[in-house]
This record gives sequence, C-alpha cells and structure tokens, in this order.
Amino acid sequence: MRDDAGLLEDASRGFVLPASLTAQTVLSVHHWTDRLFSLTMTRDSAFRFKNGQFAMIGLPVDGKPLLRAYSMVSANHADLLEFFSIKVAEGPLTSRLQHVRPGDTVLVGRKPTGTLVLDHLKPGRNLYLFATGTGLAPFMSLVEDPDLYDLFDRVILTHTVRRVPELAYAERLTRELPDHAFLGEEVRNKLVYYPSVTGEPFKTQGRITDLIRSGRLFADLAVPPIDPEHDRAMLCGSTPMLAEVSGLLEQAGLREGHNDAPAEYVIEKAFAER
Ligand SMILES: Cc1cc2nc3c(=O)[nH]c(=O)nc-3n(C[C@H](O)[C@H](O)[C@H](O)COP(=O)(O)OP(=O)(O)OC[C@H]3O[C@@H](n4cnc5c(N)ncnc54)[C@H](O)[C@@H]3O)c2cc1C
Repeated sequence: MRDDAGLLEDASRGFVLPASLTAQTVLSVHHWTDRLFSLTMTRDSAFRFKNGQFAMIGLPVDGKPLLRAYSMVSANHADLLEFFSIKVAEGPLTSRLQHVRPGDTVLVGRKPTGTLVLDHLKPGRNLYLFATGTGLAPFMSLVEDPDLYDLFDRVILTHTVRRVPELAYAERLTRELPDHAFLGEEVRNKLVYYPSVTGEPFKTQGRITDLIRSGRLFADLAVPPIDPEHDRAMLCGSTPMLAEVSGLLEQAGLREGHNDAPAEYVIEKAFAER
C-alpha cells in the first residue's frame, strides 16, 4: 500500500503537497450503483472534526489540487475516514475520483467546517434528519455520535432517492448500528430510519415534502406534526428539497440556527449548483 509516498509519482509531475492538505491512502471503494460510490481512507492523526461537518477532498490534477467539499460519513471517533460520493460523468473531480483504488492517494483538507452540528440547535425532544441523495453522508456520522442520543429522545432519519439501490447504507442503519457494541441499545430505542423512493415502487413512495404535507410521515411514525417546542431538524440534499422542507418548517414555526444563534433547524447543501 502507498502512503504519502504515493504522491511521489504526482510530485514528479510537478505536484507539491500544500500545507493546507494531507495525503491519505485509499483503503476500500464500494460502488453502490453507476451513480454512487463510497470510499474509505486513512485518517491523519491531527484531523479533528465535529460529526456532521465537511472537508475539502480531491486529487492532484495537472500538478494542482482539484478539491471539492465532502461530508464525513465516518464518525469523529473512527480511525479511518469514509466519504459517500456521486459520480458526475463530466464532473472535474468525480469523473476521476470514481476510479480510485485501494493504495491510491486522496488529498484531504486540514480544516473541516459546516453547519450540521449539534451546537447549532436548541435543545429539543425529537430530531429530524432530512436527506436526499448523497445528503445522507453527514447524518451517517451524526447517528454514530453518542451525544446525539443524550440530547434527543428520538432521531428520525429520512433518506429520499430516485431508485431503491440508491438507498445506500440501509444495511448499516437497519442491521449493523442496532447491533453495535456500545451504541446498539440507544440506536434500537431512539433511531428511526425512514427511507423513501420517488422513481419506482417502494413501501414508502414519494418525495419527502409530499410525505410531510400529506401527513403520511407523521402517521407512519405515530407522532404529532412538527412542533417548534419539541422538534428540531437538520437538512442536507438538493436545492429544491432544502427550499421546500425549510419552507414547511418555517410555516410550522421553526427558525434556522447558526453557531452564534442556535435555533430549531439547520441546513447544508449536498452540492453547489453550477
Ligand atoms: C457543503 C458541501 C458538502 C458536499 N458533500 C458532498 C458529499 O458528501 N458527497 C458528494 O458526492 N458530493 C458532495 N458535495 C458536492 C461535491 O462538492 C462536488 O460537487 C461533487 O463531488 C461533484 O464534483 P465534480 O467536480 O465531479 O463536479 P462539479 O462540477 O462539482 O458538479 C457538477 C454538477 O453535478 C451536480 N452534483 C454535484 N454533486 C452532486 C451530488 N452530491 N449529488 C447530486 N448532484 C451533484 C451538480 O448539478 C453540479 O452542478 C458537497 C458540496 C457541498 C457544497
């Protein structure tokens, strides 16, 4: 396996690792579908982050780092780093990143950041995590955070995708985490996973906004509709989902929180429109 030395090849093509980045070694790659993959890699011992945050990751291209924002899937207590990625055919980074293999080098920025962190929310009883597509990534690190289960009685993770095979991490959420040695009991008692699929038949079909508006989400969970006193939310996904769900939350009386002013919900885009 290669480590930082793997960059020697790139360095010989003129790449010099900037001080803002570390070079990590890919450990595994999993292709969920022709549009989605995950990769794990080594973690620099000085790389510290809050669950829910993102970092810049990328590859050396033409002697320069080509970087994009990526949420950490792995929790901050894990030894390795995991990311969940789209494959954009013409995408400058992902057209390349999708071909990495164990032993290859990936660049990781030293400074994680982001708004999907627990300190941006006021205390509450129930936490909704609304994700579409790769917007699931930051919530995977959060659902492995023991603090989450100290702070909330119930955590409802919704993941909406177009096709059933895009329900990445369903196995981890429904089988591995409930059996987890330390977190299993909290997960079994408090975490509710609510997948939905828009583009083909599934037990829960439709966009999350429609499932909220129709009341189906609350009926399925046997909970009252969203209430600003007890409910908190984090949103990560496509721009239309963020706009619509935040509109519904605002209508229900929830307000967006920031680090200097915690409130009832927070938002992060899963990607920037270009
Ligand atoms: C805060 C933040 C966190 C992010 N976290 C992730 C993450 O965890 N996983 C991830 O795959 N991407 C994530 N992204 C998007 C990521 O930064 C890149 O846009 C993506 O990797 C594609 O890079 P690219 O260079 O191949 O194409 P780009 O030129 O960056 O993107 C081309 C186009 O592809 C579409 N696109 C890009 N990313 C996505 C996506 N994730 N889902 C659907 N369509 C997309 C958009 O229409 C975009 O305009 C995040 C973006 C932001 C701003």
